[in-house]
Amino acid sequence: MSYEGYEIYLCEQGHRWSRDVYSPKAPNCPHCKGPRVWTCSIDQTNGDESEPKLEVAEPAPACGSCSQPIGPTRYVVPEKNVKPEDVEQEIEEQNPTGLQDFVEALTILMGYDSEGSYSPTNCQHDILRVYVSEGNDVTEEDAKRLNELGFDWDGDDLECWYSFRFGSN
Ligand SMILES: [Zn+2]
Repeated sequence: MSYEGYEIYLCEQGHRWSRDVYSPKAPNCPHCKGPRVWTCSIDQTNGDESEPKLEVAEPAPACGSCSQPIGPTRYVVPEKNVKPEDVEQEIEEQNPTGLQDFVEALTILMGYDSEGSYSPTNCQHDILRVYVSEGNDVTEEDAKRLNELGFDWDGDDLECWYSFRFGSN
């Protein structure tokens, strides 16, 4: 049986993101573009290994007028850090593929938009939101890829895919 799992990361500011072990390396924070300073591998080869519980340093800030989140949650970065030289090497190897990532995310989402819409996006508070008719039906694999590309699903409230990465540079 081959190895299965994913890695979770924190940047200096305590933003969290993750990637599947077989996906491209993601050394930079999708929220602030800072380098990762902490990483943890979650091995799921033999069932689900649970993630370490991260302590919240600061809950996601909310907009005063509409109470929607306007930024990511910040976590306390645990003591054991990634070696800086590892991070530097990964950043050097990484290409600046912002537009490619953006187009890839939109291409994935286009596959879940059978109804179509003249204005499928909305921008507020540094968040780009993309509305597609079957946004909730995205496969686990596509959802993972969208996460890596900088999009998260808002299923509680607006039923849309949203991105800080592409809402604020
Ligand atoms: Zn960050």
